[in-house]
Amino acid sequence: MESWETITGAPEETCELGRLLGEFAFAGLVVLLNGDLGAGKTCFAQGVARGLAVSSASPVTSPSYTLLNIHHGRLPLYHFDLYRLSQVDDLEDLGYDEFAEGNGLTLIEWADRMKGALAASVSVSIETCAAQQRKLRFDALDKRGRELLEQLVRNWPVSI
Ligand code: ADP
Ligand code: MG
Repeated sequence: MESWETITGAPEETCELGRLLGEFAFAGLVVLLNGDLGAGKTCFAQGVARGLAVSSASPVTSPSYTLLNIHHGRLPLYHFDLYRLSQVDDLEDLGYDEFAEGNGLTLIEWADRMKGALAASVSVSIETCAAQQRKLRFDALDKRGRELLEQLVRNWPVSI
């Protein structure tokens, strides 16, 4: 499957989609996450952490001042937020390549800031439709991304 769209009607549903993705995630997966401020990127990331069984003692927050937060679960979660990043060099200084090529799950909020410079398996774009409604569009960018997307769709919706 190349792409898939769905609408969530509450933050819990967006979180639940993230949880499924976290559950099916494989080592080395890179996920690009885009959408305006308040779209629900961090909400989705919180679900991913849950799906990876990250302890609630290590909560996923909007890392406005930090470019990277690391959480430990079934796989390490490298949660980037590029909102404040101005150039690719800064990302390199941060050791981005080592994370993305490592054995964790790399999740990047505001990935579009790097304008296609980031290799990934899946891209998720979130759009605000109404106060509680969000449209989530998933695009598979390689073979493993397509397999992951198929698993996601097969298991959605779950009863929350
Ligand atoms: P971002 O990281 O994209 O800036 P956040 O995840 O921090 O956004 O915030 C999303 C906000 O939108 C939260 O306050 C959340 O409660 C609210 N919200 C309302 N409906 C939804 C929904 N369907 N999915 C995700 N978030 C939602
Ligand atoms: Mg955020």
